[in-house]
Amino acid sequence: MQQLSCVESCSSRLGIDLDALRANYRTLTERVAPARCGAVVKANAYGLGATRVGAALYREGCRTFFVAQLSEVAPLASAVGADAAIFILNGLDPASEGACTAAGAIPVLNSLSQVTRWRASARRLGFPLPAALQVDSGMSRLGLAVEDALALAADPACARELDLRLLMTHLACADEPGRAANGEQLAAFRRIAAHFPGVPASIANSGGVFLPPPFHADLARPGVALFGVDPGPHAVGLRPVVQLHARVLQIRTVAAGTRVGYGLDHIAPAPQRLATIALGYADGWPRSLGGAGALWHRGIRLPIVGRVSMDSLTVDISALPQGELAEGDFVECLGPSQSLADAARDARTIAYEILTRLGARHARIFVEDGNAEIVLPGRAP
Ligand SMILES: *Cc1c(COP(=O)(O)O)cnc(C)c1O
Repeated sequence: MQQLSCVESCSSRLGIDLDALRANYRTLTERVAPARCGAVVKANAYGLGATRVGAALYREGCRTFFVAQLSEVAPLASAVGADAAIFILNGLDPASEGACTAAGAIPVLNSLSQVTRWRASARRLGFPLPAALQVDSGMSRLGLAVEDALALAADPACARELDLRLLMTHLACADEPGRAANGEQLAAFRRIAAHFPGVPASIANSGGVFLPPPFHADLARPGVALFGVDPGPHAVGLRPVVQLHARVLQIRTVAAGTRVGYGLDHIAPAPQRLATIALGYADGWPRSLGGAGALWHRGIRLPIVGRVSMDSLTVDISALPQGELAEGDFVECLGPSQSLADAARDARTIAYEILTRLGARHARIFVEDGNAEIVLPGRAP
């Protein structure tokens, strides 16, 4: 992605490469064909911005979207065409039936009480309501128990009241292709799906896309892979979507023995050149990277010294040639030298967690077709 010098008034910039996002969607689509490929854009498209991400995926041909909550429907709906379906993964909150219908969203019914409430709405309105049904095939997180799903399948009134658009389940270990649990969940799901003939089936998240074709069913639901994160143990040819650069606030040279940061945890073992960077845990940079992770400049590693503060952290820049970095310059936090997976490993977390925390406080620069759109912090999705 091009470097943009036009964002003068921000202390950090999150580059979001929508061309790479679209290329990743194509890669996933080809991988699951002839099954269809939807997109999971919950949590404001993993923090990056549901409207712009949704619109780019829609332009690439995606017509099935998944969010987690009702509140995430409206921003997405405003960005995609009326022919796109938006499913709510967490289902139907109490008393949200009217709002769900008004939003034109399709709830994923996860429990019998959700099914009962949605069927009652359909009877009140006098026509069948669109729904997805999630069954629990072994993860024990969300979804109907097998016997409850079978009872619904056998109930003719249910078929009149619900317009079932999708029968789905979710894999607990899709990122570990060798786990026997994957095949066990597939078999359990297929036994139930046989009782719902004609209803499209969906099993695969990003990890599932890279499992054998039976896991692709009729519709895949990748999320994190769209954003360039490898969903399993192997690289699968996805393009990175995000880059993060943060500004140098101050540079100082300290003598051996100087103590640095909250708790004075870091004690300079020798004279060091230090740079304080405008990046802290309120920017989504994990506090667990204090004394562990690094930032980068032109391929040179700048270890984080001391604790990560709310709005800043300190790196050791002694490895850089004198004068290479000045106040106001940007250093790389995520980019060619450090992937989300690299930062996640150092922070002892997963790339998902780092990604979903990035969106709020950086200037976001969306690049697509050679154009850049800058969205300053605090602006809407
Ligand atoms: C979040 C989620 C997905 C997408 O998961 P990724 O691992 O990001 O691909 C798919 N299905 C369900 C039910 C989810 O909750």
